[in-house]
Amino acid sequence: MSLGDVRHWVFDMDGTLTLAVHDFPAIKRELGIPQEDDILHHLAALPAEVAAAKHAWLLEHERELAVASQPAPGAIELVRSLRERGCRLGILTRNAHELALLTLQAIGLDDCFVVDDILGRDEAPPKPHPGGLLHLAERWQVAPSELLMVGDYRFDLECAQAAGARSVLVNLPDNPWSELTDLHAVDCAQLLKRLG
Ligand SMILES: [Mg+2]
Repeated sequence: MSLGDVRHWVFDMDGTLTLAVHDFPAIKRELGIPQEDDILHHLAALPAEVAAAKHAWLLEHERELAVASQPAPGAIELVRSLRERGCRLGILTRNAHELALLTLQAIGLDDCFVVDDILGRDEAPPKPHPGGLLHLAERWQVAPSELLMVGDYRFDLECAQAAGARSVLVNLPDNPWSELTDLHAVDCAQLLKRLG
């Protein structure tokens, strides 16, 4: 894959553009969710009233994290460089849309993304479901294979694979999911260097 030829980039947010701060085991303990369960799937299966209360707690907790967000190494420079090159940029996050906007404001990247190209958990089925990437491909009128998904977790890679898109894993020193990954970079700074 020649990175310089990629014109359509989709970023995961938490832990990819920002330093990872979510303590998922603690969130699950707080919400009474078994550690082996997926948070969003667990909440989706609860009675509506119970789910609503837990979603509200999650939103408030994540709001506090969002306003305190710190950029990941090289994330600002990479995104700004891609913008200058005229690339289409999207966000696909399991966080809420309003908190994605807050987070991007906190790290100073909110001017780099079109609001409708930021998909949260209410705009797309949560990753690893490929729906969010397929939606962006349709919005941008390109084949999914033209998209490059940048993320820090297995769900990001599985989502890309299921959509027929390509993937880059960042912010891990080693790649535990090489069979799912097209490219691994230690962080966004290294990715920018490889972009040339
Ligand atoms: Mg992430």
